[in-house]
Amino acid sequence: MSISNPSEEHVMLREMVRDWVKENVEPQAFEHDKEEKFNLELLKSMGEMGLLGISAPEEYGGAGLDATACTIVHEELSASDPGFALAYLAHAILFVNNLSFNGNDEQKARILPKVCSGEWIGAMAMSEPDAGTDVLGLSTTAKQTEDGNWCINGRKMWITNGCLDESGTPADVVWVYAKTGTDERGRVQMSTFIVEAGMPGYSVGQKIYDKTGMRASNTAELVFDNCIVPASNLVGNTGESLIHMMCNLEAERLTLAAMSLGLSRRCLDEMNRYATERTAFKSQIRDFGQVQRHIGDSWAKYRAMRAYIYGTAASMTLGKPGHRLDSDGVKLFAATAAKEIADSAIQVMGGYGYVGEYHVERLWRDSKLMEIGGGTVESHQKNITKDLSKTPDSINQY
Ligand SMILES: Cc1cc2nc3c(=O)[nH]c(=O)nc-3n(C[C@H](O)[C@H](O)[C@H](O)COP(=O)(O)OP(=O)(O)OC[C@H]3O[C@@H](n4cnc5c(N)ncnc54)[C@H](O)[C@@H]3O)c2cc1C
Repeated sequence: MSISNPSEEHVMLREMVRDWVKENVEPQAFEHDKEEKFNLELLKSMGEMGLLGISAPEEYGGAGLDATACTIVHEELSASDPGFALAYLAHAILFVNNLSFNGNDEQKARILPKVCSGEWIGAMAMSEPDAGTDVLGLSTTAKQTEDGNWCINGRKMWITNGCLDESGTPADVVWVYAKTGTDERGRVQMSTFIVEAGMPGYSVGQKIYDKTGMRASNTAELVFDNCIVPASNLVGNTGESLIHMMCNLEAERLTLAAMSLGLSRRCLDEMNRYATERTAFKSQIRDFGQVQRHIGDSWAKYRAMRAYIYGTAASMTLGKPGHRLDSDGVKLFAATAAKEIADSAIQVMGGYGYVGEYHVERLWRDSKLMEIGGGTVESHQKNITKDLSKTPDSINQY
């Protein structure tokens, strides 16, 4: 047992996912990145292994596992195909985990079995064309109509799984944040709605092409044009989004950090092997001090990130807030370290590292997203500094 495999159950999960990834994810990763194509059927097939509802309650078809288990699955997927792992994260963490901890019994009983089995694929829509980091600057609105339904108007941008194929089929179900008013102090009130495919006024604006990386996941703009949503699809009470949004963001940041970890592990493996196989000036290139610096520094960063991520996972209770400092911390550290490790891998592998066939070029492009998605590195720096001013004792705790 170790910090990243704290129980027999975690070891078995890791072995199962690692074997499945080797057989099913690795063979398709290169091609799906190259063609900017999302492998919908592969994602759906993860329902059979209970991975689509990894943290969802077992009574609704989920696996009921913890934050460490979520971390393991994201690490293993991302060691092969970070683009596919991002699509998984959008479904399993941004939608399913959110609904599992914040939906009411009726919503969970009706929707969770479908998203846990893979019958439905989910997404989460927070970002907008004109508002990303500034979440409360959103302009999508929801107004209650006389019959009790809600009418949503606005656009959401950069939504992973927002469309499912090349013909613009929208996600089966989307967790949507919209402005429903302002409170007595003039602060924006945000509410959460579950929008389902087929609801009038919900459509895909465009699939976003030509991304730097994560090209095996679909990213889309979603349009809500007088979109009518029944009152029963409001999550919690009006104005309550911030509470569950912030809590789910902690799980999102931990699992994005886990993706950086998997990606880093693969880059290290590739550069280490290459440094043995490649010779120059009658030596293995691993004998050169400058190559040793790339490998040695990458190893230390990888090990530090591993300990911090699994340490944070062990202390995180899904569905309960209170882990912002470290969920920001792991994502900040892992995102930057992963980009540096992927860069070192290309450098060690020279011209071969620079082309797609040798994998690290794709991983290097994918790594950049980690500094933007789920919060930019600047937002993590801002949050950490703010939290440390409120709880300076965090620094000296043991
Ligand atoms: C491939 C991809 C997938 C995504 N998937 C999803 C998804 O599924 N759902 C979803 O809702 N969103 C998704 N996003 C959106 C992502 O979360 C946002 O891109 C991110 O939050 C940044 O927002 P922005 O792009 O609007 O940049 P902005 O917020 O406009 O930031 C621009 C720059 O200004 C800086 N900045 C902004 N405010 C501050 C500040 N106060 N202090 C210092 N610097 C600041 C930022 O750090 C950044 O460098 C995805 C994005 C990408 C690229």
